[in-house]
Amino acid sequence: MRTKTFSSRSLLAVVSVLVGFCSVLAVRAAFVDEYKSGINWVEPKVIDPGPVGGPPSDAIVLFDGKDLSQWQGGDKWPIQDGYATSKGGGITTKAGFGDCQLHVEWAAPEEVKGSGQGRGNSGVYLMGKYEVQILDSYDNTTYFDGQAGSLYKQYPPLVNACRKPGEWQAYDIIFSAPRFDEEKKLTKPGYVTVLHNGVVVQNHSELKGGTFYDRAPAYEPHPPRQPIHIQDHGNPVKFRNIWLRELKDAEISPGK
Ligand code: MG
Repeated sequence: MRTKTFSSRSLLAVVSVLVGFCSVLAVRAAFVDEYKSGINWVEPKVIDPGPVGGPPSDAIVLFDGKDLSQWQGGDKWPIQDGYATSKGGGITTKAGFGDCQLHVEWAAPEEVKGSGQGRGNSGVYLMGKYEVQILDSYDNTTYFDGQAGSLYKQYPPLVNACRKPGEWQAYDIIFSAPRFDEEKKLTKPGYVTVLHNGVVVQNHSELKGGTFYDRAPAYEPHPPRQPIHIQDHGNPVKFRNIWLRELKDAEISPGK
């Protein structure tokens, strides 16, 4: 009986403290002003995110599995069963792009041939100059800043998230294009974030310039919008579901 009496009193004390605490919060809420930035943001546009893997409703579909008419050189790549296979040279978008979100699905050849850089090699060249490497890096060693998900010869991927040869994989690339002034001087470097199969492998990595095989990275001035290129490195890599969203900063309303 003694224990029961003690427990009831303890419970009463706890409830009293809680009620007091909530009262203090209520009083604070009544007298503290909510912070507001004062920036008159434009309302974000409503879009349909689409199915998993996209495309979202505001995307530019660059390849829907049927034709490569938006690409120069696309006529050389055979298309069947909803995918295209690299062959006879790379393909380049007819349109140019700057800051963007780019989704590309690819699959290295199921039949394993070659090793190192000679196995399932392709690549996504942002602005035709900055390569996000495509390679069959499943149980295939090469230099780390040349494996799948690397910014070629600049940064290795944070982890190796490669699926097995023949399996479909996805790159989701967020690209901030470099800026040059009127004197063609670099004013802001490019930045690249890459998710490989949903895993972050490049986290806002700063580009040191164009990605080259035979020389150090270096910037060469170029216009703000440039075509995207997909490499043919002599290995039949499959592609499907390629789409892009052009990115711009959140807008501030010009008037109140
Ligand atoms: Mg490559």
